[in-house]
Amino acid sequence: MRFQSIAIDGPAGAGKSTLAKRVAGALGFLYVDTGAIYRTLGLFALRSGADPADPAAVAELLPRFSVRMDYGPDGIQHMFLGQEDVTQAIRAPEVSRASSAVSAIPEVRTYLLEMQRELARSHNVVMDGRDIGTVVLPQADVKVFLTASPEARAQRRCAELSARGMPQDYAAVLAEIVERDRRDTTRAAAPLRQAEDALLVDTTHLDLEESFHALLETVKKELEA
Ligand code: C5P
Repeated sequence: MRFQSIAIDGPAGAGKSTLAKRVAGALGFLYVDTGAIYRTLGLFALRSGADPADPAAVAELLPRFSVRMDYGPDGIQHMFLGQEDVTQAIRAPEVSRASSAVSAIPEVRTYLLEMQRELARSHNVVMDGRDIGTVVLPQADVKVFLTASPEARAQRRCAELSARGMPQDYAAVLAEIVERDRRDTTRAAAPLRQAEDALLVDTTHLDLEESFHALLETVKKELEA
């Protein structure tokens, strides 16, 4: 059986995970949040006392990096580091920074590539990340580049962190997003960029419901084409 794959890439805070999850639910596809894998490695590096930006130190950790994804009855993607469920812990701001640093290391990307491809070989997937359409699944049936202005993304991130009981200063969140965009788009290994055949969905002026419908319609149209 050939499975279908939908690649959704874009910068931090564009609403990728929320929207991709809902699109996956609407289509009955498996939702795969690839950022969570990099976050789990970032957390592992921090806990191991390794500098997440040091390629040699992080490469040394990889053979001991025991990461697993599990989908509970709630359909939520849980991340496990060894036996520990780190689904919540990987959302902390210091882990965001660490994940961005480890994800720039080429050995890390190569190491995690096969895990991502295997999921797409065995399921219909909606996979979100930075390089899904360009590197991980270049043959994806549908590729979307989902974006919004840095200011809109910072506002949404603040609301999300507040809701999780981790309120942050807007200016600091905006600065963090601008800095992460810079790192994600300028790194040598699999930089964030729109694939040539990806469809652009800009949610700057759309609320969540409007964004969801814009994305779902774009995906459905492409799947039927
Ligand atoms: O999407 P999220 O913010 O959870 O991703 C965490 C970090 O992992 C990002 O800063 C990005 O640098 C990195 N990432 C990546 N490639 C992916 C997904 C995420 O480099 N496919």
